[in-house]
Amino acid sequence: DSVFSHVVRAPEDPILGEGKPLVLNVVRKAEQMLVNDRSRVKEYLPIVGLADFNKLSAKLIFGADSPAIRENRVTTVQCLSGTGSLRVGGEFLARHYHQRTIYIPQPTWGNHPKIFTLSGLSVKTYRYYDPATRGLNFRGLMEDLGSAPSGAIVLLHACAHNPTGVDPTLQQWEQIRQLMRSKALLPFFDSAYQGFASGNLDIDAQSIRMFVADGGECFVAQSYAKNMGLYGERVGALSVVCRTADVASRVESQLKLVTRPMFSNPPIHGASIVATILKDRNMYNEWTIELKAMADRIISMRKELFDALRARGTPGDWSHIIKQIGMFTFTGLNKEQVAFMTREYHIYMTSDGRISMAGLSSKTVPHLADAIHAAVT
Ligand code: PMP
Repeated sequence: DSVFSHVVRAPEDPILGEGKPLVLNVVRKAEQMLVNDRSRVKEYLPIVGLADFNKLSAKLIFGADSPAIRENRVTTVQCLSGTGSLRVGGEFLARHYHQRTIYIPQPTWGNHPKIFTLSGLSVKTYRYYDPATRGLNFRGLMEDLGSAPSGAIVLLHACAHNPTGVDPTLQQWEQIRQLMRSKALLPFFDSAYQGFASGNLDIDAQSIRMFVADGGECFVAQSYAKNMGLYGERVGALSVVCRTADVASRVESQLKLVTRPMFSNPPIHGASIVATILKDRNMYNEWTIELKAMADRIISMRKELFDALRARGTPGDWSHIIKQIGMFTFTGLNKEQVAFMTREYHIYMTSDGRISMAGLSSKTVPHLADAIHAAVT
């Protein structure tokens, strides 16, 4: 008999294994260049990862002319995609920050509470989504952050909030920033969709840049899974913006102590692809064009689905489909409606009614619209 016979089967992750994202041309090109470069070796990277990659990643998220970068107040360490960056940041905070509570939006990406709990933080939620308007519950958000204890950590989705597709406006971001700074709440940005939401890298980084521009401190976890299509390469970065260069360098020394026993040092291939693209002006431009095409395709799928529902006279206001942003649409369909669509139309989505727009095409929109129509009538 096995000593593990008591182990119960864990439920399958409902999301992993979805879709088949294509490889960007500019990524293929960068890989070819890397393969042809005979001087490249498979030596370990330093604990903090590839230096070029870190510098370029900070520039990408904070802006080329960011004073925080110029003043050496930013430390950036390469981690295992967005997930690993959140985890390293979480563990650093659990070891060195005076407040162990992190507030995450309700709802949020399902991995967030698990990552931060295992990091050693205590997880609480703030109101975010309003089912009645299928938009932001701004008042609830401000109330909950307003009553959070001073110094608490707050997780913010930089853009294209997952799973709702609902983001604050710039005016709302400014109010959030003022409230958070007045209460010394520490912002921890999760940036998994830079450029993928609006099609523009700078626009999708605006929320973060507002917080950095005030001179205050913040954490940012970056992922290249979506915007470079590097999902399985596990390439991302954690940046910590500090008050002074001296603090930043001490923080970096401690980040190394988090990484070393967790995975020693990060993988070389994906970071080399990213650095190759970001440091060459032509390849960078090519990337932005491919990125915009991906974002535009999703935006046009939203429009097609919205039009298809209108054409069918489907009851209800579906304008949230075109108002929401990013990869996902939070349809507002309930569990029973989702189950009906799976049973009768073989359409699969998470039970909270979230559709991945990236998985839609002009060919499949009519079938989806038929199914939604049947589910709500
Ligand atoms: N944050 C959010 C909000 C996400 O949606 C995802 C991916 N689905 C991630 C982080 C992390 O993804 P990865 O680890 O693949 O970069």
